[in-house]
Parts: sequence; C-alpha cells; structure tokens
Amino acid sequence: MHEILSNQSFGSEIREAGSRYSKEADLLKKLPAALYTCNEDGFITFYNDAAVALWGRIPVLGKDLWCGSWRIKRNDGSLMPLDNCPMAVCLKEGREVFGEEIVVVRPDGSFRNVLPYPQPIFDEAGKLTGAVNMLVDITALKSVEIALRESEERLKYFTISLEREVVLRTNDLQEANQKLLLYNAQLEQFAYAASHDMKEPLRKIMFYNSSILDSCGESLGEKEKGFLLRSVHAAKRMGDLIDNLLDYSKATLGMHAFEQIDLNELVEEILFLHKDILDEKQAVVEKDQLPVIKGIPFQFRQLLDNLIGNAMKYQHPERRLRLQIRVQDMEAGHLPGLDASPETQFHKLSFIDNGIGFEPRYADKIFELFQRVHDGMVSPGTGIGLAICKKIVENHGGRLKAFGEIGAGARFDVYLPA
Ligand code: ADP
Repeated sequence: MHEILSNQSFGSEIREAGSRYSKEADLLKKLPAALYTCNEDGFITFYNDAAVALWGRIPVLGKDLWCGSWRIKRNDGSLMPLDNCPMAVCLKEGREVFGEEIVVVRPDGSFRNVLPYPQPIFDEAGKLTGAVNMLVDITALKSVEIALRESEERLKYFTISLEREVVLRTNDLQEANQKLLLYNAQLEQFAYAASHDMKEPLRKIMFYNSSILDSCGESLGEKEKGFLLRSVHAAKRMGDLIDNLLDYSKATLGMHAFEQIDLNELVEEILFLHKDILDEKQAVVEKDQLPVIKGIPFQFRQLLDNLIGNAMKYQHPERRLRLQIRVQDMEAGHLPGLDASPETQFHKLSFIDNGIGFEPRYADKIFELFQRVHDGMVSPGTGIGLAICKKIVENHGGRLKAFGEIGAGARFDVYLPA
C-alpha cells in the first residue's frame, strides 16, 4: 500500500494497478472498510463498494469533489459544507486530518456516524498528488455509546429520585412517629381521665342501686328486684372492663425500668393470692425451678396472674384442676419470627392446664382485644387479659403462643430472652 501511496496520481495508479494487478485492485474494491481517493484537485479518482454503501450513492467521477457524501453534518447537527470536509482540509492544507467525527447523510435521509482518516500523498519530489481517505463507520458504536449515556442518565435520574423518595418517606415516617407518640400520650391521658371520670358515676350507680336493694328490697316485687340486681351486675362488669382497659394501656404505653425478677417468688406470691380458691378446687400445681429474668415487675405480676387466673377460670367441670409451669432453655434459631440472632438464648415457660381447652383455630384470635371463645359457657370475662399478656411479653422482647384442644386443656408458651 505504501508503495502505491507514494506514486504520483494515486487514483490513476490504482486504476492502473487494477489492470496490472487486477487481483489486488479487486481486493481493495471488496475491502469491508470504506476507502476512496482524490487527486490533487479534489476530484474522486477511486472508491470501493463499502464507500458506496456508506454514502448511499455512487459518486460521479470527474464531477464529485472531496467526497461521495450527499451531505455532511457535524456532531452538533450543523451542516458542514463539503469543501470543509476532512478530506478537503487534508488536500488543501497537505496534512493528515485525524479524529474529527462527522455524520454522513445519505440521499434517503438515513445517516452514518463516521470517523474519516484522510492522508495526503506526495510524489518523490514532495509535491502533493492526491489523498486517500478511509472512512470508519462508527454508527453502531455511537448508538451503543448513546444508549449507554442515556441509561447512565436514567440511572442518575432514578438514583436522585430514589434518594428524594427515601428522604420524603423518612420525613413522613418521622412525622408519623411524632404523631403516634402524641396520640399515645393523649391515649394515656384519656385512659387516666376515663378511670377517674367514668368510674366515679359508675360507683354511684352501684352504690345507689345496692342501697335501694338493701333498704327497700323487701317491698319490691321479684321482677323489680331482678332489674336492680342486673343493673348492679352490669355496672360491676363495666367497672372490670375499665380496669382491664387501663391495664392494657399501661402494658402498651410508658417507659418503665427493668429489674431482676425471681419468677419463683412471683409465682408463689400469685398462688398465695389465689390460695383459697385453689384449695377449694383441690387444684394441683406443679412447677419447675423458674429463672430469674430482667423485666418490669408489675407487668410480670399481671402476666402470671392472667395466665394462672385463666387456668383456674377455664377449669374442666368434671376434673380437678392441674396446672404445670415448665421451663426449657433454647436458642432463638428454633423460634421463627423472633427479632434476635439465631444463637440468642431464650427461656420457654409453658403454662399447661387440663381445663376445657379451646379449638386450635382460635390459637391466634384469643390474643385479640375483646375476643372470647367460650362466651356464655363459663364465668364472664372481658377478653382483654391475653391481649395484655401478649403486649407484656412483646415489651420484653419475647413471644407468646397458645395451643388448645377442646375438652383436653390449653398450653401457653412464653418465650423470654435469657
Ligand atoms: P377473658 O378471660 O377475660 O375472656 P382473656 O383475654 O384472658 O379474656 O382470654 C380470651 C379468651 O381465651 C377467653 O375468653 C377464653 O375463651 C380463652 N382462654 C383463655 N385462657 C384459656 C385457658 N386456659 N383455657 C381455655 N380457654 C382459654
């Protein structure tokens, strides 16, 4: 090639070479890279098939100047006059022009991104005789580059909007948290107000109704006496409900200090409180050596009292109450759904009774507020006790699970971090 380039009148040389070395000329014609030559005046003297495909037209020899392009644009979209094209500059200034990207617009309006490499040709005396230009089609590369840039832009936009969204959501969450804290404080105030304001008229209703019963009971008919008794009973139930709701709000709200609690002592204390009834029932209570745990004492008293109280309340009418309190130590890994690393140690306290039990399908439902699954069958309750228990156990980083079988008994498993 070098030899051909240094010849005078390169284009005609190639044509001559075409006749002399038809094989080589054929090779140049069929070369997949676009190639053409011009003489020193800028007229096209040779072009190959790839150049025709790139231009989208066949140049007219002896007429087309500088290149075979129909039109050329710069990368910024502005029109580049043909006599300013890189090949024209190369020939006019007698120097190679590298690295200027152009857009070749074909007559049908389609375009190719092109990197031209025009090089001047000099004869042995150093006189410019023409130039050869190789046109590298970088359209595919360009579209990849554009797609890449676009996706980078999209990614940048996405990241920015994601960050913005995260900030917004965080603000929303903080706001919601603040509101929640406020509502909680208001609820706590409401609960205390309820205790004072609602319990006082309730006490009066009970007092006056009981007084009427005491003083005029004799003169009242059975029907009227029944009405009065029922209203005293209803007022007492309402009082219990208010007390339980207050307990529930106390278990939910407020910060309390954790202390060491010996569960053996606490269970003994509660059993002692219920001693009369337990003796009367001839109940059998079996318990393992219980652990000392860290917790809020009044909440644990309530938890144990509710669980032991329920075992007594839901006793089977045909058998003696038997309550077992069992302990087992285990790792959190065995307890799905716990917010703890798998090797964290937990105590599992099981309260197992041989009472009336409950249908297994109610195992979750009984922890909901006001949910009772034996309505009318046994002594009245409010359906709040187990909801309180659940809150207390969760306050201490644990879990409470229930298992029941109708007529066979119930088991409540309390998992507590060791
Ligand atoms: P309450 O006892 O006041 O109704 P709880 O929240 O303590 O409310 O209990 C909810 C329901 O769960 C009870 O109404 C009862 O149907 C069932 N339950 C609780 N403990 C036991 C138990 N040891 N044996 C059988 N059923 C029970």
